[in-house]
Formats: sequence, structure tokens, C-alpha cells
Amino acid sequence: MIATSPPKDDASERPNLPPSSTSPNSLAQRTIRKTVRDDGICILTFDRPGSSANIFDRRALAELGEELDSIASDSKIKGLVLTSAKRSIFIAGADIKAMSENASPEDIGKLVELGQDVMNRLAALTIPTAAAIHGAAVGGGYELCLTCDYRVASTDKATKIGLPETQLGILPAWGGSTRLSRLIGLPKALDIILAGKTVAAKPALKRGMVDELVHKEYLAEAAVRILRRGKRAPIGHLLTNNGLVAKAIAVRVRAQLMKKTRGHYPGVLEALDVVTRGITKSITDSLALERESILRLVQGDTCRNLIRIFLLQERAKKQIIPWVGPATELKAIKKTAVIGAGVMGAGIAQWLSSRQLPVILRDINTEQVAKGMAAIAKTYKDGAKRHVFTSLEVRNGLDRIYPAPTEVPLRNMDLVIEAAVEKLELKKKIFQSLDKVAGEDTILATNTSALPISELAASTHQPERVLGLHFFNPVHRMQLVEIVAARQTSPEVLQRALSFVQQIGKLPVVVKDSPGFLVNRILMPYLIEAGNLFESGASIEELYKAMLDFGMPMGPMRLLDEVGIDVALHVAQTIAGNYGDRMHVPELLSKMAQAGLLGKKSGRGFYVHAKGKEPTENPAAARLLSGNTQHASPADLQQRMVLLMVNEAARCLEEEIVPDPADVDFAMIMGTGFAPFRGGPLRYADSIGISNVVDSMTRLVDSGATHFVPCGLLRDLAAIRKNFYKS
Ligand code: NAD
Repeated sequence: MIATSPPKDDASERPNLPPSSTSPNSLAQRTIRKTVRDDGICILTFDRPGSSANIFDRRALAELGEELDSIASDSKIKGLVLTSAKRSIFIAGADIKAMSENASPEDIGKLVELGQDVMNRLAALTIPTAAAIHGAAVGGGYELCLTCDYRVASTDKATKIGLPETQLGILPAWGGSTRLSRLIGLPKALDIILAGKTVAAKPALKRGMVDELVHKEYLAEAAVRILRRGKRAPIGHLLTNNGLVAKAIAVRVRAQLMKKTRGHYPGVLEALDVVTRGITKSITDSLALERESILRLVQGDTCRNLIRIFLLQERAKKQIIPWVGPATELKAIKKTAVIGAGVMGAGIAQWLSSRQLPVILRDINTEQVAKGMAAIAKTYKDGAKRHVFTSLEVRNGLDRIYPAPTEVPLRNMDLVIEAAVEKLELKKKIFQSLDKVAGEDTILATNTSALPISELAASTHQPERVLGLHFFNPVHRMQLVEIVAARQTSPEVLQRALSFVQQIGKLPVVVKDSPGFLVNRILMPYLIEAGNLFESGASIEELYKAMLDFGMPMGPMRLLDEVGIDVALHVAQTIAGNYGDRMHVPELLSKMAQAGLLGKKSGRGFYVHAKGKEPTENPAAARLLSGNTQHASPADLQQRMVLLMVNEAARCLEEEIVPDPADVDFAMIMGTGFAPFRGGPLRYADSIGISNVVDSMTRLVDSGATHFVPCGLLRDLAAIRKNFYKS
């Protein structure tokens, strides 16, 4: 018998709990429910009130501590199972807000100590313990599991297991950096911890991170059964978990990490140090290393910036358009159509179908539609290889797409996304036709990279239902979607689009219509400058090194190749057409487009791209130059490219393209991979000082580079000695 009944919304998904006879603490507002079965097995069920997730804040930890003390002193209890009542979450880790910039190092220190203390109390129980994991068991959630004798996980897709702390600039410090290597061996533990990896149930079993997988229906039963094995003896791992091997691994991996991160991410280096040194120490001493290390890390800018990005992602998931009210009153998006089955249209259709939405995929002829469908099938196939989709999900996903080589009725669509070629006149024609065939409530969106959406809207009879939904390439990997409000877009349409983007699991940023919107507008001056620097003599390698040293994920010429030289040229021309005073598109891009050097898609651009090989520099690109050989130092190259992004970012804020500096920084990090540890272009400007930014730009202007004139906002902030951010 279960004395405490599950909440209604979660009941159907909850793993079956075994029968019990008592329910000593079914108090409202508590996170943990305790039931003790007739056979003396105690079940602690995490069920944070009023939330779909379980997280560890001080209160939940303290509550768990109390429960563990009471279990320790109850001789009738013979074993313990920890489980969750949530639909898709076991425990999602520590309360990250408690680690944000408002928290003092003392507060964080206390939270770390409390967490370690509670985990130690669990480890010290003399009865066997097991975690019954269904849903996300990440960070502190998995550290709790690691402290148990056994881990049984559901085979469900929702089950995800790992330690992502290093992605936030910290390390697992509730025992994760100590206990994982003892469970699965040093090399495998480092692979998880240093990459901040979260893996699905099957790979978790393969790596030894869990002991058994069962269908979620039998989870609790299996967890109770595994307790019969009794307390678990430590696992040896004699070959890997010793001082000699640990030292050798530390030296080798440190060199690899330095090469990869250029020393910008101290969290991974600290984690490597703690895990490899901790393995030769007692648990107590290793935990002390974890504590010291995390306290150092949380006081650094890298950690602060990475945690801010995490919190901005959470904010984006919950954002609403303030002047509309609750989204539930508005019509949800259930039926969709995509016009254009090229790179982006196919990518969008695949994503929507994988999110359970039926999609009509329209293109001008059978051949184009078939090409799109083949690309979609490939994305699904690759996803299945990586265990993202089961074969059934692949089949169902493909079945949700209706290929349409001829006109089809669109009256019942809730949303049509146009992703045809980037030509304003063509897009206008498409919108005029959609205006006639779509229903009154149908939202008409365009995926244009830079064309004026207000002008497209003006070509229709219901301009208030037109907006931009700017997905990034490749759609299945890039999380950001710019929601571009045209002058005429109604707040209701914006809110419906915002809810839609959240519903499909992407991260929205709402921006005003302006050439290039937000992300491309800031990115383009950087890429244009890179092209101009190349034209005036800087090598691909020098530009690459300058920007990788800054913290960008790839060099500018590689990014141009990825985007496609023709696409980049077109976007650059559109944006530069509006800001000609400060953007001069390098001639080289047109020459390359004409020569068919289109980048990755044509196999040749600034690099030669061969299947399965690292791209190598393409000498043909340099041959198109007129032979200029001015030389700039790496620091100068970096400064020029970065300052132009900072200036354009400040202009976007000045023109209220978005209301908040955090929107700019968030969009640039999520949309372009702008050095996350720097916190975005505006946070970076704050960190080096706005007056330094203005001085450097003024010097460049004085040297003849007039496109470096700092915008009004930068000059104003420098004059009053203020920053973009308050703190
Ligand atoms: P693409 O050339 O790969 O595909 C365009 C498709 O539109 C082609 O299949 C073409 O046959 C089809 N098409 C042309 N006219 C049509 C019509 N009248 N009706 C239906 N289909 C028609 O282009 P893409 O890279 O997918 O770009 C599509 C849009 O997305 C553009 O506006 C582009 O600026 C934007 N975008 C591109 C990227 C990118 O990286 N490629 C990123 C973001 C946004």
C-alpha cells in the first residue's frame, strides 16, 4: 500500500512504487515523502512542491539530512531507495541561483559543506542504499546517486545522467569529483567530468555509471531487489586508480585541455587536478580538495559569466511578452507549414516534426522537395546513431512531414514559416500569396537572415500577423531563435510565436526589426573586418589564432566557409547597404562567389573541405587577392575584430533592438558561440573598461580607420564612467 498518493498530473508517468504500510511524514510543502514498506525498506520520494523539477537548495538538503538521521536511528529499516515523483526529472542538481553573483563566497561555502555533509550521512548508513533513477539525474542529483550503494535507472528517454558542472565553470563538489572515479575508474570519470557530459541510460550503463536498466514501470521494484545484495564493497580499479597513473594522466590531459581551451576555462583544470590528486587520498581529504577548489572557482569571472548564461537560458525558457498576459489564453501552434525545403527549410521541418508537430514541406518542384526530405532523413539517421531517436521515433517523425511539390491548402495552419531563397521580391510574392490562402489566425513567419520584415509585412493585408522567426544553421544544433517583431506585428502574434519557440525546445530572444536583426548585425562587421584584414595581408592562420585566443569557437574564415560565401556575401551586402558608412564588404567575397569558392558546401572556400578530414587552407582564395601585404600584430587583429562587435552591440542597445544588455550578450553567445567565458560583447566591454574601448577605437579612427567611430552610447558611458551592467 502506498500511503501518500501521487499528484494527479504526474501519476501516469511515475514509476510504480512498491506497497508500503506507513507514511509518517506526508506534510504539505516538504520536498521528500517517506514511506516504509512492510519488509522494512524505506522509500524517500523527492517531490518538490509546486514545481515540475526537483532541485537541491538548502531546504531540500536539510530535509534530506533530517530523514537520513531518522533512518540511521531506526533499527526497523533494512534498506533505502531514493526516487522521484516527477515526470522527467530525478534531481536536476543544485539550485544554481544559490551560486549566482548575489551569493557571497561564505554562502556558497556553506552550501557546499552542507551538501557534502548530507551525502556523507547517506554514505555512512549501515543499511544498503539504492537510487531509482527516472529522468534527469545530473550534477548534485547524480552525486546523490553516486553516494548510494547501487543505481538502477529507467530505460526511458527522459533519463539523463551526468555531471555537467564544468560547463558552469565549477566542478562537482558534493563528492562527484571524488566518488565517480572510484566507481568507474579514473579515465572514464575524467571523460564525464571534464566534458561536463550528460549521457542517456544505455551509455550510462555501459560506462558503469548505473548498475541496471529497467522499464520505468519496474524501476522501484528493481531498486528494492538490488538492495538484497547488501552493502557494496569498494571497487578496486587497481590499474588506473593509483598515484603513478593519475600523475601521468594529469600531465597528458592538462596539455590537451590547455590546447583546447587556451587556459580560458580554469574549472576544467581544477577538476582535473582534484580528481587525479583526490584518487590517492581518503574520501575526506578528497572532499576537502573539492571544497577548496570550488570556492576558488566561484570567485572568478569565468564561473560568474558561465552561471549567468545558464540563468539567462532559464529566463528565456519562461519569458513572456509583458503586455499580453498568460499565453494559455492564446491559440497554440499545432499545425505548421514550411515554405522552401533547402538547408534551413528542411532543418526547421525536421526539428518541428521531431517535436511532435505535423509539417507541410513545400518547395517549387518534386526534386527540391525530395532533396529536402533526404536531408531530413539523414538528420534523423544521424540522431538515431547517437541515441537521440529510437527507430520508431524516426519513423513517426518522418511520417509527420507532408512533402508538397504543388500548392496545398494552408487555411488550417497555425503557423507558416517561409524559408525560400534570400530575395526580397520573391519573398514578397510568397507572402502575398500566403496572405490569400492562409486562415485568419495563421501566423506568417519568415526565416530571412537580414531582409526587412516590416516591408514584407506591408506587402500583405494582415501585416499584424507577420514576423521573423530566425533559426540558425544547423537547426538541430543551434538553440537560439530570434523572434523578430516587425513594426506592425501584434503583441498577441509575438506571444504566440514566443510560446511556440519555447514549446519546440529552442531559446528565444525577441528583437526589433532592423537590418540583420541582432545577431547577424553584430556578427557581420566582425566577418567583414576579417575579410578586409585578409585582403590587406593578414593570413587565414593569423586571423584564426587571433580569434581562438580571444575564445571564439572557430576562426572567422572558417565561419565564413560554414555559413557559405554566397550567403555571407548576400547578408553582408544587405546589412552594409544600410550602414555603408561603417561597413565596406570586401571585394574578395564577390570574387570567391563568382569563382565557385562557396565554402564548405562546395568543398572549397577559404579552406579545402574534404570528407572526414580536417579542412586545410585553400591557396586559391589568397590568389584572388591583389597582393597587399600590410602587417598587423595578432593583438591588433584581435582588437579590430572584437571592437567592431562591441560597437555594433552597443548600437543595438542604443537603438533598443533589445531592451537589456543581457539580451545582446545571451544572443551572441547562443547564436555565434561568442567566447562564453567573457560573458558576451557588452560584458566584455565592461570588463576591460568602456573608456578603454572608446580610447582604442578613437586611436584607430585617428589612424584613418573611420569605421571605428564609437557609437553615442559607448561615448556617453565612457564620459560618465558607467558600465552596461549595473554591478
Ligand atoms: P537554400 O537555397 O538552401 O533553400 C531555398 C529553397 O527555397 C530551395 O529549395 C528553393 O527551391 C526554394 N524556393 C525558392 N522559391 C520558392 C518558392 N517560391 N516556393 C517554395 N520554395 C521556394 O536556402 P537556405 O540556406 O535554406 O535559406 C533559406 C532562408 O533562410 C533564406 O532566407 C536565408 O537567408 C535564411 N537563413 C539561412 C541560413 C543559412 O545558414 N543557410 C541561416 C539562417 C537563415
